[in-house]
Amino acid sequence: MTDSKFSDSARGPSDRRDDPGPFDIIGDVHGCATELEHLLGRLGYRVRWSGEPGAVHVDVTAPAGRRAIFVGDLVDRGPRSPDVLRVIMAMVAQGVAYAVPGNHDVKFVRWLEGKTVATTHGLDRTAAQFEGEPKAFRAEVRTFFNGLPFYLWLDGGRLAVAHAGIKSEMLGEATGDVRRFCLYGETSGETDKFGLPIRYHWAAEYRGKTSIVYGHTPVPDADWVNNTICVDTGCCFGGKLTALRWPEREIVSVAAEGVYTVPVRPFGHPPLRPGAVA
Ligand code: MN
Repeated sequence: MTDSKFSDSARGPSDRRDDPGPFDIIGDVHGCATELEHLLGRLGYRVRWSGEPGAVHVDVTAPAGRRAIFVGDLVDRGPRSPDVLRVIMAMVAQGVAYAVPGNHDVKFVRWLEGKTVATTHGLDRTAAQFEGEPKAFRAEVRTFFNGLPFYLWLDGGRLAVAHAGIKSEMLGEATGDVRRFCLYGETSGETDKFGLPIRYHWAAEYRGKTSIVYGHTPVPDADWVNNTICVDTGCCFGGKLTALRWPEREIVSVAAEGVYTVPVRPFGHPPLRPGAVA
């Protein structure tokens, strides 16, 4: 379809190869603020809240030299999407985190902008949670998401982070197709018996030298497939919130405090693309 450039001056650069890290790459948070604070604590970050309702301030201190990277899908399904945004937006503003948007975040921004979107797949909960939020905060959230690059390429080219994944030949590119893959991964354009878009297991076919860290499809445990790792372990579905420490390649997880949304599709990688050679 279109091959229009998505990169505009409002979005931060995808090419951060000059940043060697170290990083703590965190999977889909989906409004799970309590688990996010627990995980950040386990990773050595200090989160301090101050101020009063309506004028809350968050201050986050990172362990020496480290930065967090969020793979997107910060909102929907969980109990406290506004608080998740407060923490992560503060971290990005304070220079202790990067983030890329997920498909849920992009749809949420369209809702914030007053566009007609179906309030399904947990957006109904985020919308309800934003009822009492001031206009200024909504505007900050829009500006934040509209300023994020769709993927990050880091550490001398050895690492890339995108919500649903990215292919080697897309690194350094900024087309509509790249944007689509970063947000939705490999899809068939059809829906399955659960009414969800059919996804394919692009990672099984991946042969690149760059390690790809992504989320999007909840898996029971973060596991390396070729040179890729999915760090979405379904926290909002009662799973866990997971971080990959880079370059250590250590996994740190915290268990969900509850089942905030009942999953309609079982956890696990999607099937291979028909005709794929894995
Ligand atoms: Mn997700």
